[in-house]
Amino acid sequence: MSDLRNWKQVPISEIAEFDHPGVQYQCTREFLISQTLLRGEGSLSDTGALCIDTGKFTGRSPRDKFIVKDAITSDSVNWNQFNQPISEQVFDALRDKMLHYLEQQPALWVRDVRAGDHPDFHLTIRVLNENPWSNLFVANMFLPPDYSVKDAQPDWLIIQLPSFLADPATDGVPHPQFSLLSFSSRTILIGGTGYTGEMKKGIFTVLNFLLPHQHQVLSMHCSANKGTTGDVAIFFGLSGTGKTTLSADPNRQLIGDDEHGWTDKGVFNFEGGCYAKVINLNAAQEPEIFSAIRKGALLENTRFFPNTNQVDFANKSVTENTRVSYPLSFIPHACSPARGGHPAILFFLTCDAYGVLPPISQLSVAEAMYQFISGYTAKVAGTETGISEPVATFSACFGAPFMPLHPGVYAQLLGKKLQQQGVEVWLINTGWIGGAYGTGSRIKLSYTRTMIEAVFQRKFQGVTKIAHPNFGMQIPTHCEGIPDDILIPWKSWQDENAYQSQSNRLATMFAENFEQYASGVDENIRNAGPKVIR
Ligand code: ATP
Ligand code: MN
Repeated sequence: MSDLRNWKQVPISEIAEFDHPGVQYQCTREFLISQTLLRGEGSLSDTGALCIDTGKFTGRSPRDKFIVKDAITSDSVNWNQFNQPISEQVFDALRDKMLHYLEQQPALWVRDVRAGDHPDFHLTIRVLNENPWSNLFVANMFLPPDYSVKDAQPDWLIIQLPSFLADPATDGVPHPQFSLLSFSSRTILIGGTGYTGEMKKGIFTVLNFLLPHQHQVLSMHCSANKGTTGDVAIFFGLSGTGKTTLSADPNRQLIGDDEHGWTDKGVFNFEGGCYAKVINLNAAQEPEIFSAIRKGALLENTRFFPNTNQVDFANKSVTENTRVSYPLSFIPHACSPARGGHPAILFFLTCDAYGVLPPISQLSVAEAMYQFISGYTAKVAGTETGISEPVATFSACFGAPFMPLHPGVYAQLLGKKLQQQGVEVWLINTGWIGGAYGTGSRIKLSYTRTMIEAVFQRKFQGVTKIAHPNFGMQIPTHCEGIPDDILIPWKSWQDENAYQSQSNRLATMFAENFEQYASGVDENIRNAGPKVIR
């Protein structure tokens, strides 16, 4: 067991041996699947995907995520509600406790993987899981390590033990579940939660610290794809806004669906797989994702139709956040290596449940910076009780929970690139039109796809655009294949006055949120914010 304590000592190799009788190292997908079935921890869908339940946690637990405050992070991390500090002592004690717990485990699934599909910017990660399906997630979502470097040691370690519970009375964390990051120890500790996304977003957080801070590489919560001429597009957006859905495009090569870096040469994917939402997934509307649900894919928290092994994608009895992970190669036309040049087009995706933002509009550089710093989307809350008011979320850089540095660091890097590369920026509302949630409806996915395709085909170039009265963005008045009234939000609403007051409300929310950043940004960005019309 000594070599798990000194986890770096066993070099990365296809046949590494550990001093623990239960260690299963670098298993094939087939083996991980059969072991999961053998242990009674999963079942196979009729298309061969492995179906498991993640347990009590079916989503991330941001309030239980902490970063060790040490010499590396103390002055560089932007300490806030997402970047919560914890002491080295608490971290070390919990790590020791977890290692002791590990020693008692009959089986341990160890995997060496790589994050960052780029020769200069990547991390090798050794992951220790207590069950085989968590290890399958790791195999799906990360890249294989580079075995060619002799005696290479892993850069980071993840210890993920869903059944290990912290004792809040003595362990120095508020709950039994926790996710702790230490940059000095280069270790992530995850306990008390089986939600696999916690590992993925843990490493994302690490890269969001290291890449901008040490290498001037912009790390981004976005999807990316490229056209036949190599033209790259990226899609920023918070959860549920359409990054995964819209980047899977039959006419374009997929680079990745969630996490990318932008160097002085272009973009690259951090991951080796996709993690798609599957609630209400439909083969006709999302054929690429639907077909990726096959042998090797891992379905989380879904249910079958009675007496079948056919997944009922409408079933949300476990959670609304049902997911599937699969390797990038399961999407036809995925590119390998997952890289591209500088993006020519940048989309900001927002799911506006207030029904205010136009389905498509073009932003100036200053407006783009304002939107990036704001990171707006609106969710619908309280669906169970029937009282369903939208709730605005402002999450800086479209990913505040994963950004350890001050938003200004990412914004500055983006601003420079937008200026240098002459990128076109479009804001896409994948949410409500014709009224807010309750009266309006969510814009059809086929319409959103048509508008995005029109941007790629440069179809808006000769089209008359009008400025939004509050927000200023340029709204095209016509798009082939879409009724004109849908494009202009106040025309799709029944009552134009009701629209105007709703738009004022949203503009006020934007302005209030932006106050915290106002003093730190250039005047032109400050002035690019929405205005309330009296
Ligand atoms: P996460 O960061 O959590 O992975 P995401 O940005 O990748 O989120 P998606 O997984 O793409 O989000 O989720 C978008 C969801 O919204 C999908 O379930 C999709 O079917 C649905 N949807 C409905 N209408 C639209 C639309 N007009 N545009 C995009 N997605 C839509
Ligand atoms: Mn996604």
